[in-house]
Amino acid sequence: MNKQEMIYEGKAKKVYATDDANYVIVEYKDDATAFNGLKKGKIAGKGVINNRITNQLMQMLENEGIPTHYVKELSERETLVKKVSIIPLEVVVRNISAGSFAKKYGVEEGIVFDAPTIEFSYKNDELGDPLLNDFHAMALHLATREEIALIQRTAFQINERLKSYFNRIGIDLVDFKLEFGYTPDGDFVLADEISPDTCRLWDHQTHEKMDKDRFRRDLGGTEEAYIEVMNRMGRKEKA
Ligand code: UDP
Repeated sequence: MNKQEMIYEGKAKKVYATDDANYVIVEYKDDATAFNGLKKGKIAGKGVINNRITNQLMQMLENEGIPTHYVKELSERETLVKKVSIIPLEVVVRNISAGSFAKKYGVEEGIVFDAPTIEFSYKNDELGDPLLNDFHAMALHLATREEIALIQRTAFQINERLKSYFNRIGIDLVDFKLEFGYTPDGDFVLADEISPDTCRLWDHQTHEKMDKDRFRRDLGGTEEAYIEVMNRMGRKEKA
């Protein structure tokens, strides 16, 4: 499949058309942003790492029966995926308090919840991705009641699979963000990425952060932490 014109450039990825309208090519960049684009930087090698991590996790989820947009890794930074029309909801699942949850509700980070939580934000950069509930999402025609139920059920299934995957490599899955959509055939699939940019990952033993919070909070060692996640995943795949 041939790479054609760029159709979209986001904060961390570029998307290219191909000669088949059903597929696009995603290219991962090293650019990093935080706080709605206010903080900008680069994490050396991030694009290569996130491409590999995302693809490995997408393949694992496919094998476990979760439909995704993933088709084939093309190069270090490029992946062929099904073209997806994205439901404009950012879906965040949390197992442990951190980030905006801890801040908003005035609790410390690191509280393990009795059961995972889920929340939606309206995917809209101009508005700063405002939080919304199911009824708001329906009122805005972002998703139907049935779609919301499907998104919630699928996101919790993904959480269980990711949690146990990371657990086996000594990493606690704190929280993460997902995006869903429809292929041209009308199939509901998981899209976007699953990487240390979009997940909070803490070392189980030391509670050391192995994700984008290192960049957000200027902790240093961001690239090294991403590489460590990739290496642990690589060792698991070979085992
Ligand atoms: N997240 C993301 N993209 C966003 C917002 C959040 O990938 O635009 C991820 C983030 O990396 C974390 C989880 O979603 O793993 C929950 O983020 P939170 O709501 O705590 O917001 P933050 O503290 O990142 O502003």
